[in-house]
Amino acid sequence: MASEAVTAFREQYRQEHIPPRYNGWLHLAFTFGIGGTVLGWSLLRLEAVRPVEWLAVPLTFLYANFAEYWGHRGPMHHLKRGLRLVYERHTRQHHRFFTDQAMPLDGLRDLRAVLFPPILATFFLAAFALPVGLLLAWAASSNVAWLFVATSLGYFLNYEFLHMSYHLPEAHPIARWPWIGRLRRLHQVHHDPRLMARCNFNITYPICDALFGTLHKQDR
Ligand SMILES: [Zn+2]
Ligand SMILES: [Zn+2]
Repeated sequence: MASEAVTAFREQYRQEHIPPRYNGWLHLAFTFGIGGTVLGWSLLRLEAVRPVEWLAVPLTFLYANFAEYWGHRGPMHHLKRGLRLVYERHTRQHHRFFTDQAMPLDGLRDLRAVLFPPILATFFLAAFALPVGLLLAWAASSNVAWLFVATSLGYFLNYEFLHMSYHLPEAHPIARWPWIGRLRRLHQVHHDPRLMARCNFNITYPICDALFGTLHKQDR
């Protein structure tokens, strides 16, 4: 049940931050359409991958899990110079729109408060994935670079899909998949305003939360 404060914030957010022309389906199509196309294109660039080069996949996965953890534990919950927008969007908006008592969105337009805005997603991927990809192409091999790009994008799309699933109505068929239910409960604990800066910073798989002692499984 959404409290009066959450209901009032949602109304204010919709008026101030969701443009009238915003369309949730288009946002989904951009994220998964463009992201999926670039991912597929990266895989098509692979040529005679050697066994050792496949190691790029698990290593990129772990690196992405670490980046997700520290990005969320750091600038998303603590105001840092030059990263105000990230803090504002996450702590000041996402966490006021959704609390542990009010997890589901009310309609597709509310996806604006869940998914990365296309411009921010493009910026982060260009700023972080591109330089590392180029460095790997130079220092290792083009196969390693393409595997890095494909795994990073796959991780990002998985992040967006899981986070969206946690904020769907509980009766939605996707939200009822058993493993999504378990991960959703961890994210719900993180949305408790008293706990949001203390635990469950992995949005996808709680590997770094387990490693760094911030996993909180409290069942509600
Ligand atoms: Zn959330
Ligand atoms: Zn958070």
